[in-house]
This record gives sequence, structure tokens and C-alpha cells, in this order.
Amino acid sequence: MSKTIIISNRLPVKITEENNEYQLKVSEGGLATGLGSVYKEGNNIWIGWCGLDVPKSEEPRIKNKLAKENLAPVFLTEEEIHLYYEGFSNETLWPIFHYMSTYAQFEQTYWDSYKAVNEKFKNAVLEFAEPDDVIWIQDYQLLLLPGLLRDELPDATIGFFQHIPFPSFELFRLIPWRSELLEGMLGADLIGFHTYDDVRHFTSSATRVLPIQTSANIIHKEDRNIAIDAFPMGIDAEKFSALPKTSKVMEIINHYNEILGDVKVILSIDRLDYSKGILQRLAAFEKILLENPKYVEQICLHMIVVPSRDTIPQYSELRDNIDKMVGNINARFRTTSWNPIQYFYRSFPIEELSALYNKSQICLVTPMRDGMNLVSKEYIASKTDNSGVLILSEMAGASKELVEALIVNPNNLEEMSQAIIQALEMSEEEQQCRMTSLKQTVTKFDIKHWVKVFMDQLKEAKETEKSRRARHVNKNLLAEFSTKMRSAKKRALFLDYDGTLVNFKANIDDASPDRELYQLINKLSNDDRNQVIIISGRKHETLEQWFGHLPALDLIAEHGAWKKSGTNDWEETPNLSDKWKVNVRPMLESYSDRTPGSFIEEKRYSFAWHYRKVETGLGELRANELMSNMRYLTREMGLQLLPGNKVLEVKNAEINKGKATLEYLHNKQFDFIIAMGDDHTDEDIFTAINDVAITIKVGTSISEANYYLRNVEEVRNLLNSL
Ligand code: UDP
Repeated sequence: MSKTIIISNRLPVKITEENNEYQLKVSEGGLATGLGSVYKEGNNIWIGWCGLDVPKSEEPRIKNKLAKENLAPVFLTEEEIHLYYEGFSNETLWPIFHYMSTYAQFEQTYWDSYKAVNEKFKNAVLEFAEPDDVIWIQDYQLLLLPGLLRDELPDATIGFFQHIPFPSFELFRLIPWRSELLEGMLGADLIGFHTYDDVRHFTSSATRVLPIQTSANIIHKEDRNIAIDAFPMGIDAEKFSALPKTSKVMEIINHYNEILGDVKVILSIDRLDYSKGILQRLAAFEKILLENPKYVEQICLHMIVVPSRDTIPQYSELRDNIDKMVGNINARFRTTSWNPIQYFYRSFPIEELSALYNKSQICLVTPMRDGMNLVSKEYIASKTDNSGVLILSEMAGASKELVEALIVNPNNLEEMSQAIIQALEMSEEEQQCRMTSLKQTVTKFDIKHWVKVFMDQLKEAKETEKSRRARHVNKNLLAEFSTKMRSAKKRALFLDYDGTLVNFKANIDDASPDRELYQLINKLSNDDRNQVIIISGRKHETLEQWFGHLPALDLIAEHGAWKKSGTNDWEETPNLSDKWKVNVRPMLESYSDRTPGSFIEEKRYSFAWHYRKVETGLGELRANELMSNMRYLTREMGLQLLPGNKVLEVKNAEINKGKATLEYLHNKQFDFIIAMGDDHTDEDIFTAINDVAITIKVGTSISEANYYLRNVEEVRNLLNSL
């Protein structure tokens, strides 16, 4: 039976040693809870760093202890923790991915260690992985792992989820090892992020850095399709809404009620991190006290900062600055019976947090950047009476879902302090209305939902990939085609040209046939039983120049506007009009004038607007703009717009390759037909003759064809063996 393997930097347990005995304590984090239901089942397993630097001799004992809980450790040395974890993960990737590029260190030793540790994780996974297993890798410490595993297990089902933001290409490109990182991630079958913005940023970085193609949220890389999607992570909402009703939490709430009286509590909870906007939050709070003396003794900022990464200089500096600012505000505004800020630099058990969430009138979550932010969701789930107001930064992933919160820009002090005042003065009715709606979101999209949706989609992505791969023309299929072909007396071979028989070139005239191709075509045409037909969107003049001298070849040019049989003259499809060109040409010219690198190719009955050499993204943008601008014109004039590989073609709607193929076959008797093509325009051929022919798509994108080949080389090999 197949199993699920989860891999994260840390295992979901804390290991401690007491009296020479190892003790395990399950972490309370959302991920541990959400995936707890998964890894504890059957043979499933969770692999990760055990959190301890242990002597080699102790490793077997820890391994055994963990194995009983379906856990498997990766042992890291102190140096690896320093270079791979604190170094590359937290001093290179973390600041870049959180838009703090000035904090980023690009150290070769960090990178070398990151690679080595990812290898270590790979070896740990290979100890357990079997072909049918589902592998789910978590987060930015393991960006190389999907690729490393893919090299070893080409058919494995691999999912990857990144819990922190994926930055815009302008930030990501700064990393010297950007292509290796992307290659690593793209080893997965499904890559998940918290928000659609992260999906966009990742896809745009991948297309700019690597030679890959995309269609919608699918990346086509070599022979594989990778799905990229947004899966906003939720919390264990059930647990957080049940906690305030427990006696332990009620006791703490009562205690707060006694000591705080009517003072309204504004809650702030973060790990110590420069991405959390703690200083800006303090500044907004200070501004309120300065400008609104009426709030003195009426409100209190309850601020918890959980110690984190304080070996990194920026973190200890941040801690000092928080200390100073809190001290300053408290010293200036305090009264003998009241402190404006209750500041705690430590972590609290979940019951304490639950009581605070439940008690606070406002939860102030204003990070400068945050992948998701779970505190905001925990606050909502803990509000059993639906009172209270969430103030949320637009830079937190959660703001995309929690739209009924007061959404603020954390750089805008005025907006933040106004939002706090609005929250303090908000009517009970409005609070209830907003909170009810927020709660529905948090309850429905909880952690279980997140796990289920990701796992379902991973399995679906794999199934789609499997059924596509089953259609790849492998040795067996090739033998089957050859047998069919051998027994046939009259065979037609429809071959598209660009992208099928030859690779694309930046310059369209450079893609002329090479010697090998001529030999191949001659070999096929020399057999009287074979009829080779080149069917292309190219001008008939070009096909004439390249293939006109080959007497046994039939040619179809400009998608069917021109035909030539053997040594006969070219024939034009009758009654085609080109009057529309007068109207369309100026439009295309204006686009070419505005888009450096683009050019117009004029054919007898069509125009092709090429943008292969245009800046990535700009070409696609202009092509889309052109399509929407031409929509009405094309309908009125009976034209068709054909988006191709870095080209947009405008042509008479009456001609297409499908029609041309059917016309060609009319009144001819073939007992073996094969058609191959790589582009949108070839789909018309496939649809037209799918039931009577072997149709083959070149490339991995979705197609009507019955089979597929990976690239031009495979096409040539197939033709050779036929
Ligand atoms: N948290 C905790 N103890 C504390 C303070 C916070 O366990 O004293 C938890 C909190 O409940 C939340 C997590 O830490 O689940 C913080 O997650 P978030 O996504 O908000 O921020 P991150 O630290 O992951 O960037």
C-alpha cells in the first residue's frame, strides 16, 4: 500500500533529555496539528531535523524512540545548523522573500551547506520512499529537495508547499543561485503558496529565469507539467473556539477581568522578526496617546514578542530597539496605576494565548510582510461572543481572505492609528457583523480543509500527468505504429514544420531545413507507398524555396490557403479575399512601432505578428491587447486570430489546417494516416482526423491529439524508425 511521507526542516515534536531518557512533546503549531492526522496513520512518516545536536552514538536511540511515533530524524551538526539554517535559510532566503533585500547575505559557504543539507534530507527520504508513495515537502529550507528526489525517483508524486511569501522577480533575481533554486522547486508535481500573488510571482520568476513555457497555472518543463496554485492555510478552528470554554482558560480570563477592569486591551503577538512591523505598530500606538489624551488609562497594548533567531545581528538589534521604544512610551505616558504597554519577551502556553485572544477588544496584526499569519485567524476563532475587531496589514497573506477586518498599510502610521481609533469606537453591532463573517471563513477554511484540498489536488495533478504520459509514444507504441504502417499500402504523413520538424529560432528565416531533415524526408518519400505532406503556416514562397525541388512531396502552405502536389504548380484556395488587410495592417504596424523586437510577417492571406525577441511579458501583454482590440473587427470581416508560440496570426476564418487536411484526403484512399504538430493551429488537424489517424502532439501541453512526443528530436527518431 502506498504511504505519505511528510518532510519539513523540524519534526513536529520537541525532544528533551531527562535522567538519560528522551522525552517527546508534540508541538502545538498549526502544521503539526493539521498534518498530525496524516503522519500518524498506517505506515506514513514525517521526516525532519530532531532539533538536537547529539553524539553519533546516541543517534540509534533517538531513531528508535521516534520510529514508534511514525517519525524519522535527520541529524544535523552544529555547523550545518549555522550555515544551512541560520545562514542560507534565515539570512539569505528569509530577507529576500520578505522584501528586506538589504539584510540579505550572499555567502558561498551558506549555499554550499544548504545544498549539502538538502542532499542529506534526500538520503533520509530515500531510506523510506517507494514508487507509489506521496511525498509532501514543506517550506523554504528545502527548496532543492523536490528536484533532488525527482532525479532519483522520476515517477514519484511530489508536492511542495512554501509557507512564506514568494517575492516579485525583481527581488528574487538578486539571489546568485536563483536558477538552481527554481530547478529544485520544479521537481515537484504541485507547488503550493498561500496566495495568488505568490503564485504569480513564482511563475513570473520561473519563466524569466528558466527556458520553460506556461499555460494558465501549469508550467511545462522538459517532459513534465507542474501545477502551481494557491492554498491559503487555515488553523485548527475547532480547537481555538473550544478552548475559551475550558475551566483552565476561563480562570485566566477571570483573572484578566479582575486586574484590567474596563481598560480595553489591544493585543499584539509575534515572533521577534523585522518582517512583523513591531516598531511601526508601537509608533502608531504612541501617536494615539499623543493626539488623544482621552485614551490615557482607558486602553492598553498587550504585546507578546516570542524570542527567535536572536543570534542574527538584525534580530538582537530589533530587540534592543523594541526595548527602548516600549520603555520610552511607558515612561512618558504611564500613571501610578496604569502602564500603556504590557510587554512580554517570551512565549506563552496556548491556554494563556486563548484567554488573551478572547479578552482583547482589538487584535493588531500589522506585519510589513507575512506569508499568511495565523495569529489573526486564531484571534477570530477564539472570539466566542463574536465581539472584537481585527486590524490586519494588507501585506499579510491572511488579508486576501479576511476582508472584513480593518485592512491597513503598515507603513501608513496615520491610517494605522485611525484604524485603532475606529476599532475602539466601533459599535457592538458592526463588530458582530464583521466577526460573524470572518468566523465563517476561518471555520470553513481550516487546517483540515487545507490538507485535504492540497492532497486531493496533488493526486489529481499526478493522475493527469500519468494519463498524459501513458500517451507518450514509447517503444511499444512505436512498434504498434510500425506494424500498422507495414501492412498498409497507401500511407499519408501530415507533418507540421516549425516546432515539429525543426526547432524554433529567434530569426524565422534561420529555421531552414538541415541535411538530416532532407535525408529523412527523402527516405520516407522514396517509398511509393508513402505520401509526405508538409502542412505549415509558412508562406508558400518559403516552402517552395525549401521543398519545391522534391518531386514526391506535397505541400500545404499558409494554413491551407495554398497547395502544391508534387511537381505541379501552386494552387490558391478560390474566392479568398485579402481586402481586409488594408484595415488590419495599420493596426499591426502601430503595435510593432510600440514594441521593440516585434515584427510583421506578411503572407498572401494572413499576417503574423511575431514577438519572440520582445522583452518577456511585454510581448504577451501586447498580443493580448491586440487580440481584444481586434475582436470586433475580426468578427465583422470573417477573420480568425490565432495565438501561437510567440506569434499572433490574423487570417481568413475559412482557412485552417483541419479543413485543408480533410480536403486533401477527400476522394483519396489511405489505409494509414499519421499527423504531427506542436502548435494551436495543428489542433484543427487533430480534431478533424482523430478517429481515422494516429495524431501526435509535439510538447507536453494539453492537446486533442491521441499521442504525444516530447520534442523535435523524438519526432525525427520516430520518422526514422517508421
Ligand atoms: N504562538 C505560540 N506561543 C506564543 C505566541 C505565539 O505558540 O507565545 C503561536 C501562535 O499561536 C501562532 C504562531 O505562534 O500559531 C505564530 O504564527 P504566525 O503565522 O502568526 O507567525 P510566524 O511565527 O509563523 O511567522
